[in-house]
Amino acid sequence: MADSILAMTHPRKRLLLLVTPSTYRAEAFCVAAEKLDVEVVRGLDLPQELAEQWGVPLAVSFADPNAATQAIVAYAKDHPLDAIIPVDDSATLVAAQAGAALGLAHNPPEAAEAARDKGIMRRLMDAAGVPCPVFRCFPLAGDPDEIAREVSYPCVVKPLRLSGSRGVIRADTPGQFTQAFNRLKRILLGDGYSLEGTDILVEDFIPGVEVALEGLLTSGVMRTLTIFDKPDPLDGPFFEETIYTTPSRLPEATQRAISECAAAAAQSVGLRDGPVHAELRVNERGPWMLEIAGRSIGGLCSTILEFGAGMSLEELILRNALRMETPSADLATQAAGVMMIPIPKGGMLHAVSGIEEARATPHVEGIEISVKPHTEIVPLPEGASYLGFIFARAETPAEAEAALRAAHAHLRFDIRPMLPVLR
Ligand code: ADP
Repeated sequence: MADSILAMTHPRKRLLLLVTPSTYRAEAFCVAAEKLDVEVVRGLDLPQELAEQWGVPLAVSFADPNAATQAIVAYAKDHPLDAIIPVDDSATLVAAQAGAALGLAHNPPEAAEAARDKGIMRRLMDAAGVPCPVFRCFPLAGDPDEIAREVSYPCVVKPLRLSGSRGVIRADTPGQFTQAFNRLKRILLGDGYSLEGTDILVEDFIPGVEVALEGLLTSGVMRTLTIFDKPDPLDGPFFEETIYTTPSRLPEATQRAISECAAAAAQSVGLRDGPVHAELRVNERGPWMLEIAGRSIGGLCSTILEFGAGMSLEELILRNALRMETPSADLATQAAGVMMIPIPKGGMLHAVSGIEEARATPHVEGIEISVKPHTEIVPLPEGASYLGFIFARAETPAEAEAALRAAHAHLRFDIRPMLPVLR
């Protein structure tokens, strides 16, 4: 009786996590939810028939946001929800629509859409005066030799909707442009895009160092949680990310300018609530926005973040979504780094060795190889960008970076050519 009275006065909060079946990012949210005594319901991106077979309580199709919203609203009638968190990019529109329908903290659906489409994003940023590269969209059906004469160099050719740097290619000359355009065309057609009605983006290449920013929006106000430096140069022609270290080693004033630029970018796109992951370049003219997404950092990169007295990024996101207080005002991060292990070449991954030696490197906290042996690995720009992760924590970001490089030097990837019959 006493328990049920307590439950009535203090009902346990319920959180909907929107996830794809293959995600490995949900776990960190579940751990944070358990710590905060919040119930988690997973909304899985699955067809209804499969969901029934698997006994999944809530199946939602991220490709059909209207139907997904209806399913979530119907579910919430019997199981009231306090927050909806899209774990992967593909769920941001559904989270925005369902959040609006249920009166929960949410991003406007148009903002979620804009943050997923590089063309819309650029137009909104540009209109708001946010520093970003000069850009133009061209039809995929266009003649690359003609377009090559209309753009300036060096430039970057990119798809509007892929992620993880897939299809992003630098061109320094008209000849390279034509090659890059045709290569991107093959990638998009291979992914099922049609020649008619698909555009690509061409923009000025912005030289400089690159950073990533993790932020948290609360009713339109952005707080920077951390800025990552990317110490390896990203000059192309493909843009494979490797090392991220935090806190940033850039001067305070530069970091402030980065935060202001990202906040202006979020506002220009219309993002108002929840996590933000932004990529920027910084040169003598200041910060430049490359991209902003209404989600937290991808992969397992957030694993190394620890805020205040042992809070994970996911805990901060969850507290914000549920409008729970954040206990510590000091959210400084410890020095840490993560390496997205680069793909040395394409082929069949036969075996990985040296993991134990790499793991024993001082300051290294963990290694995750995410690619299974005997699978084909395809490097950028067609394929994915990394084989797994190395995590390090140290006194300083420079030490964390050195530890990542030392650990990586122990790893050996036995990659063999694909047999033609397996292709
Ligand atoms: P994705 O969403 O696939 O990650 P981005 O637009 O963020 O695509 O581009 C991926 C990477 O390509 C960036 O992190 C950056 O290193 C590089 N890049 C993209 N656009 C530019 C640009 N205009 N100038 C310089 N580098 C760029």
